[in-house]
Amino acid sequence: MTAMLPVLRERGQREVFCGLTGIVWLHRKIQDAFFLVVGSRTCAHLLQSAAGVMIFAEPRFATAIIEERDLAGLADANAELDSVVDRLLARRPEIKLLFLVGSCPSEVIKLDLSRAAARLDARHPATRVLNYSGSGIETTFTQGEDACLAALVPQMGATDAASLLVVGALPDVVEDQFRRTFAELGIPTVFALPPRRAADLPPVGPNTRFLLAQPFLGDTAAALADRGAVHLPALFPFGVEGTTAWLRAAAAAFELDEAHFARVVAPGRERAARAIARHRDRLAGKRIFFFPDSQLEVPLARFLAAELGMVPVEVGTPYLHRAHLAHELAALPAGTQISEGQDVDRQLDRVKAARPDLAVCGLGLANPLERLGIATKWSIELVFTPVHGFDQAGDLAELFARPLARRDRLTVSPCS
Ligand code: SF4
Repeated sequence: MTAMLPVLRERGQREVFCGLTGIVWLHRKIQDAFFLVVGSRTCAHLLQSAAGVMIFAEPRFATAIIEERDLAGLADANAELDSVVDRLLARRPEIKLLFLVGSCPSEVIKLDLSRAAARLDARHPATRVLNYSGSGIETTFTQGEDACLAALVPQMGATDAASLLVVGALPDVVEDQFRRTFAELGIPTVFALPPRRAADLPPVGPNTRFLLAQPFLGDTAAALADRGAVHLPALFPFGVEGTTAWLRAAAAAFELDEAHFARVVAPGRERAARAIARHRDRLAGKRIFFFPDSQLEVPLARFLAAELGMVPVEVGTPYLHRAHLAHELAALPAGTQISEGQDVDRQLDRVKAARPDLAVCGLGLANPLERLGIATKWSIELVFTPVHGFDQAGDLAELFARPLARRDRLTVSPCS
């Protein structure tokens, strides 16, 4: 089925945020973790502006700035980093998990953060020190979460016990909704990766079955498979059908009775269908164009086409994970144009020619497209907003309806 969809591969100029952006939602999720970016003032500015208002009394991320003199000698950079971490952990003993997050500058000067993390981990036994890369070299912003979670997998204990693992940083309220549904279904042991606290890192083994909550977790899924865990392929939990299929994959893996499953999910399905229906009039028949940005594009296009009657003109994604997206691609309308990678100038030419009603894009492209008269939705909002599951399906539809409603309101009627 996948082979039937045309895929346009592009390798040109890209307009995306880097993987550091993931810190904005990851630091809220893992409550005793700290993210120390080893980077430049640019990295610090990105984090400050992306994170907006700090909601904690004490910050849980910071940037260790690589100064020009550090560029001259790596020995100095390592010594400086050690002293920054020493000071941080002396002042903040509640930090139980410290991520050293690599950036473009740290990669350019080839600062080996995995060695630094091993050194600092041995030096600070009360805090686990790990590293991953959030650099903007060949990445898109959701890959930061994938790299962070993949770094956690080797730290997970081993087990032979059967369990379900939900992989992906969901807002706590959404994670709790899913936990309640799994409990009602009768799945006894359910873990989440990432956990809310470092000490709750779940165990993994050959009887672990895992569901991906996000489509951008390829490296994490591969690391879990290396530990013997088995991926449960499914649609992603967006909308009525996506959420049902995702939950059903878990129910099937635990050999639950289909009639029982249907009874448990029926109220959620009805709530979600009612909430979505409120936005159908505004969205049905509207043409939508996705620029490649969040890697959520394919599942969202499937949801919008199947449940709201939207017409996906082009669905761009930075990277197309064919195995994880197989169910999604099969559910897209026949002939949907998929593009993988980006050549922003060529894509802008195509969007001008297609004149969609709505374009989903990164922040940098929104204003130019609005000036062309095309309504836009920032793709980054889809990662910051709770959108998974039955109870968020109406909010997810509304995220796409709102820019169209705003455009309708802004349309000026001629004076008589
Ligand atoms: S990691 Fe690279 S792309 Fe990201 S803010 Fe720092 S310099 Fe910019």
